[in-house]
Amino acid sequence: MTIKIEKKIKGYEVVKPEDKAAAAAQPAVVEPKEAPMAEVIQMHESLERPEALIGSTFKIKSPLFEHALYVTINDIVLNAGTPYEQRRPFEIFINSKNMDHFQWIVALTRILSAVFRKGGDVTFIVEELKAVFDPRGGYFKAGGVYMPSIVAEIGAVIEQHMKNIGLIHDPEMSDAQRALIAEKRAAYEQVTQKKTELSPTDADTNDSAGFPPGATLCAKCNTKALVLMDGCQTCLNCGYSKCG
Ligand SMILES: [Zn+2]
Repeated sequence: MTIKIEKKIKGYEVVKPEDKAAAAAQPAVVEPKEAPMAEVIQMHESLERPEALIGSTFKIKSPLFEHALYVTINDIVLNAGTPYEQRRPFEIFINSKNMDHFQWIVALTRILSAVFRKGGDVTFIVEELKAVFDPRGGYFKAGGVYMPSIVAEIGAVIEQHMKNIGLIHDPEMSDAQRALIAEKRAAYEQVTQKKTELSPTDADTNDSAGFPPGATLCAKCNTKALVLMDGCQTCLNCGYSKCG
């Protein structure tokens, strides 16, 4: 038997017959039996794609695009049936009749899918995408939400999907906060109602899903819901107030 010695030899001793006997008498070390534990699978890039995945398709209609975009996000379910069950995005596809944007859309979806499969916290891509501004200007969606670009809307769709599967949690609005917003809104509507009675021509210009006409864009929630109340800019959607 040949053994390669990797370390520097500091000293040596010849094995005596009694040492051999002692070693033989010692019972072989028994590996402590590990308690049976479920192996928790985390997302990692060499995870094989199952035959079938579950997913959702979102439709994006933007005035910047002639045709609608269909965004499909497919999820993998990890540790199904265990307390560690987790649904995570695995791949994304974007389809459209519009071929003008084909190459950057393919590039974007490939990179996003790669990020999904890398594992770790993938929610950061939502903020990255939502921060993309189109130099030609953005557009308003129904509900008065401002979209600075089509890429930002893809980010918003991914965010919605991540909320649906429980990867992103909305900060819970307290009942007190909700009540405060409702109260502010009622007060504002009372004031504006008096005004519109005086000048009925200004009525009927409300295009932003229930928020008062003339409401401006809130920088916090990107919704046209900011109104001036008691000399203070107040958002009737998220409750943001310039005066704290
Ligand atoms: Zn707001």
